[in-house]
Amino acid sequence: MSAPDGSADPQSPLDVVVIGAGFGGLYATYRLAASGRRFRVFEKAPDVGGTWFYNRYPGARCDVDSLQYSYSFSDDLQQEWEWTERFAGQPEILRYIRHVAQRFDLYRHISFDTRVTSVVWDDAARCWEVSTDRGDTVRATWVVTAVGCLSTPKEPEIDGLADFAGESYYTNSWPHDEPDFRGKRVGVIGTGSSGIQSIPLIAETAAEVTVYQRTPAYTMPAMNRPLEPDEVVAHKAQYAQHRAQERGSRSGTLVVGHTDPALAASDQERRRRFEECWRAGSFGCALVSFSDIVTHRDANDHLVDFLQEKVHAIVEDQEVASALASWEYPFGSRRVCLDTDYYATFNAPHVHLVDVKRDPIIAVTPGGVRTQSGERAHDVIVYATGFDAFTGTLFRLGIRGRDGVRLADAWADGPRTYLGLQTAGFPNLFVVVGPQSPSLVVNVVRAIEQHVDWIMDALDHADAHGIGVVEADPAAQDDWVDHVAEVGHATLYPVADSYMTNANIPGKPRVFMPYLGGFGAYGERIAQVAAQGYPGFVLSA
Ligand code: NAP
Repeated sequence: MSAPDGSADPQSPLDVVVIGAGFGGLYATYRLAASGRRFRVFEKAPDVGGTWFYNRYPGARCDVDSLQYSYSFSDDLQQEWEWTERFAGQPEILRYIRHVAQRFDLYRHISFDTRVTSVVWDDAARCWEVSTDRGDTVRATWVVTAVGCLSTPKEPEIDGLADFAGESYYTNSWPHDEPDFRGKRVGVIGTGSSGIQSIPLIAETAAEVTVYQRTPAYTMPAMNRPLEPDEVVAHKAQYAQHRAQERGSRSGTLVVGHTDPALAASDQERRRRFEECWRAGSFGCALVSFSDIVTHRDANDHLVDFLQEKVHAIVEDQEVASALASWEYPFGSRRVCLDTDYYATFNAPHVHLVDVKRDPIIAVTPGGVRTQSGERAHDVIVYATGFDAFTGTLFRLGIRGRDGVRLADAWADGPRTYLGLQTAGFPNLFVVVGPQSPSLVVNVVRAIEQHVDWIMDALDHADAHGIGVVEADPAAQDDWVDHVAEVGHATLYPVADSYMTNANIPGKPRVFMPYLGGFGAYGERIAQVAAQGYPGFVLSA
């Protein structure tokens, strides 16, 4: 990339373009800045943070422990930063991400308020041409997408959205000026993690809250609490060991699973372990409370029975309890939620549940929401209706690979990647925590570091060996796609309709997208590929 006098030639392509400045893009920025490569980062938001920038709805909170859901690349950083709660709220996480950007002087590399509109491979020049909505066009040898799996809001397929005369808010793009619910009749549509976290807080001030539930989520109490100074000191003293354990684990966390099956355990032992997980505030604990919870429906049903009892014990109106616990899919096959007082909120006289499986939403009207049984008046509607996950944002980048093929067309029948990192026909393009990698089913901050480190090593390898093009081999890709499907289908995960299977977006192919082979095992596999000189990738000068 140097001019004859050794200085950077401004006409030559950049080494790397990074898209996104959330946890993933920021770590890539850190690594690239340290590497001395010429690069640029584009971020559509006015600040860093990615998903934690946009999802600032009341109650937005992580459900992986703060001491684990944080960067491990700098011991100074992890020793200095003081998390205040077991599960950090969105404002604290955003403060942390901003702190990282400032502490490592990363802001200067990022072009904010800049949306990438096209990413086109130039085969003759063997580089990408990246254009933005600000009119920039830059060329780069490598492109790293760090756009997150949950970053394009899903538009709810409900008639009349635009007709509503009151205030409308989306949890996934919450306004910076906090809405005031006092004295208002609020309708909330959607009961995934975002709905479940926000409903109890909205109910604290609103005059009336009506929750429109289509698919009931499994949710367990978060048991969030302030972190004790002693436990923080103890954790920090062992940070290196904890991080190593996270990296080698199935979930990228410190949760340790049991190896014996629920079907062979006594009722008493099953109950004991389920109760332990309920009190621990950890759905990960429940998923691995026995070895067969996510693989055998009968084992899973024992846990479901336990959770049904819990809901019926908390919610006073037994009809409401039945609706909240009317799960028709196995525990864990949709993302489980952690909540604070979600079920108890339905005991308040001003909180109502509408089961829209039985009483479907017909339309949003100027005055509220009309279901089959009639119209309910609202001053505010909150949409907690989720995301066009995994591929939604990637497709919107306008990526065209060899011969002008659009990524959206190459993946028309579902994502096709090698190791979740690259796609044949799209050379030199790396995806951070995208489909067919562990991504959303594990601690995503660990997954981000794993991917970015691997990509940076691949770039070093390319530089060291005079390699200008790295591309997934179609045969290796086919094998990986089959492997991801086989591992997924050996579990109960693909059974449920959810954003993990694309089922939440009408018209998208039903494919189970994350890789379930385990975070540590996946890490070993990709490390082995690197150590062996990148078999499964075609490397050329
Ligand atoms: P989500 O889990 O996809 O939930 C969306 C909800 O909206 C579902 O209940 C869905 O019902 C409902 N919905 C969508 N369209 C609808 C319609 N037309 N009519 C009625 N209901 C409709 O989305 P999310 O709650 O935003 O969470 C997404 C993911 O973000 C989570 O699973 C998690 O990975 C992440 N997240 C994490 C945290 C955390 O760390 N604590 C917090 C928030 C989010 P159907 O299922 O029937 O379509």
